[in-house]
Amino acid sequence: MPDKPTRDPLSRRAFLTSAALAAAAVTPAMTAQQAAVNEKALAARNAAAESAQPDSMFPPETDAGGQPPFKYPFALSRRRIETGGWTRQVTVRELPIAKKMAGVEMRLVRGGVRELHWHVGAEWAFMTAGSARITAVDHQGRAFVEDVSKGDVWLFPGGIPHSIQGLGDDGCQFVLVFNDGNFNEFQTFLLTDWMHHTPRSVLAKNFNVTESTFDKVPDRELFIFARDLPRPLDEEKKEVYAGTGAVPDSFAFFASRMEPAKSTAGGSVKVIDRKNFPATNIAAAIVTLKPGGLRELHWHPNEDEWQYYVSGHGRMTVFAAAGHARTMDFEAGDVGYIEQSMPHYIENTGNEDLVFLEVFPTPEYQDISLAEWLAHTPSRLVDQHIATGEDFLRAISKTESVIDPV
Ligand code: MN
Ligand code: MN
Repeated sequence: MPDKPTRDPLSRRAFLTSAALAAAAVTPAMTAQQAAVNEKALAARNAAAESAQPDSMFPPETDAGGQPPFKYPFALSRRRIETGGWTRQVTVRELPIAKKMAGVEMRLVRGGVRELHWHVGAEWAFMTAGSARITAVDHQGRAFVEDVSKGDVWLFPGGIPHSIQGLGDDGCQFVLVFNDGNFNEFQTFLLTDWMHHTPRSVLAKNFNVTESTFDKVPDRELFIFARDLPRPLDEEKKEVYAGTGAVPDSFAFFASRMEPAKSTAGGSVKVIDRKNFPATNIAAAIVTLKPGGLRELHWHPNEDEWQYYVSGHGRMTVFAAAGHARTMDFEAGDVGYIEQSMPHYIENTGNEDLVFLEVFPTPEYQDISLAEWLAHTPSRLVDQHIATGEDFLRAISKTESVIDPV
C-alpha cells in the first residue's frame, strides 16, 4: 500500500457524473476513437436500462468482486390487473438474496377491495397515495377498523384475517412487506375461495341456516374487486366492536402525523418499531434525504434490511467483506435488500428529495454507525488502523448523526 492515495479514488465517478451521461462512456484511459466505438456498442444494447444504472456501467473504483444484484425494480414484475385495482410482487423468486422478506405494490380504485384474507406471515404496510379503510379481527374476536392515509403504516400479524378498501378520490396505493421471503400474494387464504371449496351442507350446518343462503357465493375468487364505499367509520366501528370490543393494540400507526426521530440538514428519519407501535413485530425507518444528503455508513446487527424507494434517485454501496463491494442505483419503485450486518450507505444523487423505507423482520430497530463506532473506541487504537490523526477521531460527534450533513 502506498503511504498516501495518489488521487481521490472516486475522481473517475466525479468525472463521469459531472459530464452528461450520454458522454459518460469516455474514460480517461480511452482514445476518442475507442470511445466512439464504445458508444456504438452501447447504443445497440438496452440503452434506457443502462443509462439508469450508472454505477453498474461505470462503477466507482472502490467497487470490487462479484456481488449479485441486491435490487429488483417492481417495473419488472408482472402486474395482475383487476377491475378494482392491480398488484405485483417481489419475492425471493425474483430477488434470490431476499430470503427473509417479500414485498407487494398494490393499487385499489375508489371502492376497490382487496378481498378478506389472511396468510402465514405478518404484513407491514406503507401508504404511498390516497386513503383506505382497513379491517381485521384477532384470535379473541376483537375487532379493528380504521382509515389510513398517505404516509401511514399498518401491521397485520401472521394468520390474522384482514381487508383493504380504497377510499380516496383516486383510491389508494401502498406497499406491503412480509416477514417471509417465500410469500406469494396470489396464494393467500381468501374468504370466497374457502367458501367455494366447502360443501354447502357443511356451511348450512356451521351457521344453522338453509343451504340456499349460500347460493350467491362466487364460484371463483374475487381477490381484488370494486364495490360501494364502506359506511361511515364510526358506524362500522360500533358494529364490529359488539360483544368483544376492539383489539388492545391498534394495527394502524399514523406515521404521517409523527415527528421525525432525527432531523438534520441532510434530511430526516422516522423510526417505527415496538417502542412506539406495540402491535408490530416488523421494525421500520422512513428516511428522507435532501439532495446531496447521505444516510451515513452503518449496518444492522440484528436482521436483514428490505428497502423500498418511494421517490427520488440515489445510490447505495454494500460492502460484503473479503474485498467485495458493489454500488447500485435506485429510484422510485425499486426494492433493495441488505443481508444482516453488511455495512452500507445511501446517497441522494438526484435533484429532489429521496424517500425510502428500511424494513426489518424484527420488533426492534437497531443500527451501528461507522462514526458512532469510531467515536467510542480508543482514538489511539483507531488511529493505528486508519492513520487519520487523533484530532479527527476526537472530533467525531459522540451521538449518532444518522443522516449527513448534520
Ligand atoms: Mn394481506
Ligand atoms: Mn440500513
